[in-house]
Amino acid sequence: MNLPSKIVCVGWNYRPHIVETDAVLPKEPIIFIKPPSCIIHDGEPIVIPEGVTNVQHEVELALIVGKRCKNVPEHGALEHISHVAVFNDITARDMQTSARDIGNPWSLAKGMDTFGPISEYVPIEGIDITSLNLTLDVNGKRKQDGNTKDMIFTPEFLISYISHFMTLEPGDIIATGTPEGISEIVSGDVVCVSISGVGSVTNMVV
Ligand code: MG
Repeated sequence: MNLPSKIVCVGWNYRPHIVETDAVLPKEPIIFIKPPSCIIHDGEPIVIPEGVTNVQHEVELALIVGKRCKNVPEHGALEHISHVAVFNDITARDMQTSARDIGNPWSLAKGMDTFGPISEYVPIEGIDITSLNLTLDVNGKRKQDGNTKDMIFTPEFLISYISHFMTLEPGDIIATGTPEGISEIVSGDVVCVSISGVGSVTNMVV
């Protein structure tokens, strides 16, 4: 599997998650990038660097771009997506919050090595991405349980919006935001993200 040229992430795309992070309902999608170097796969460890505190999980539906595209109209935008996957947008929350508070970028908080576990890719044909259950378990205990029908900005809108500013390349990943229930993970925890009908990825924190 080749690395994507970029992972385009959407912040605050589910209302209850906006509340739990003291954020404001966005008028337009909040877009940020994670580097391809954060990607890991099933069974690989999530490594928390020394001194980094309050690292949290975020289960998300990932869209995999199939065709190079730019200025995609919203209607029919899914034609540019070839596969879907389940993604865990691991976040160093204390670092992100301090950056937000003083108006600085939060690239480091989101972009550390191993902070992007992703499942095997599944072809999008036949999958109704408007109603998928997303779950996240830590040590077998359910922490997040959401549904893609509750997204504020739909996948079609997001593809169109992002492609208005950035060319999307084949293999690029769009992470569509997390529902509520984020919590801290620590060394020794086993984190499993799953989407019904798509797949799962399990990683231990070290
Ligand atoms: Mg996220």
